[in-house]
Amino acid sequence: MTEYKESGALVKKIREESLQAGFHPRVLGQIETPKGPVPFLSLSRKIKRRAPRVLIAAGIHGDEPAGPHAVLALLESFPGKWPELSGVQIEIVPLINPSGFDLRQRTNVHGVDLNRMFGAAAPPPEIRLLMNDYRRRQIDLFIDLHEDVDTPGFYLYELAPSEESAFGPQIISDLRKAGHPINDSSVIEGMPASSGLILRTTRHLPRFFRKGAPQGLYLKKLGARRTLTFETPPRLPLEDRVNMHLLSLRTVLTSWSF
Ligand SMILES: [Zn+2]
Repeated sequence: MTEYKESGALVKKIREESLQAGFHPRVLGQIETPKGPVPFLSLSRKIKRRAPRVLIAAGIHGDEPAGPHAVLALLESFPGKWPELSGVQIEIVPLINPSGFDLRQRTNVHGVDLNRMFGAAAPPPEIRLLMNDYRRRQIDLFIDLHEDVDTPGFYLYELAPSEESAFGPQIISDLRKAGHPINDSSVIEGMPASSGLILRTTRHLPRFFRKGAPQGLYLKKLGARRTLTFETPPRLPLEDRVNMHLLSLRTVLTSWSF
């Protein structure tokens, strides 16, 4: 697969593919990057009947390219290879941190970790655009695509209504079957983990903090019933990591009852 290194070229390609795939691309604003302004895209595909709304976000950390490339691969194979998505309203924010993407760094060009700024009193432009947009409707399921330089294999965070209803175990099982490596540590990022899953139930939701929160917690606060964050290992080829994201997404959409 082609790896894009410049946010402007990647966003242009994603916009073209989204139109081909029947999505409606909206430009929420322009984001400054070292190479000039880049359109901040949000894609949606509305279906006529009332249906659950799934939001997929990618590229909030600039040095985690698998997420935005997974979005591109999804659009390129849509709708033919995605019957699971026919019954849902899908929205995609493909590249939240274009300046960080260009600089291959986690933070934006001003050194801000955007995934700690949701709900902040004075958020940076990338997050202000999203907060204004997210407040307008109910998201039922939120999926955030990330990578983790320290991990030897895939793992995920899940915020679910109960332990029994978690999708994580099925995601991990499907990834193992496909031959993908899993991070089996009992502690990941300082948190207890089991078989590649860091699970929290909504009963144990951390207090929302005034200085700003990660995107998943913010959407949970706005009413999302479940949030999932996928983490892939950058030491593997891009194509493998993209496939891990897409397979995990497929498992979630298959597991989810509408
Ligand atoms: Zn990340």
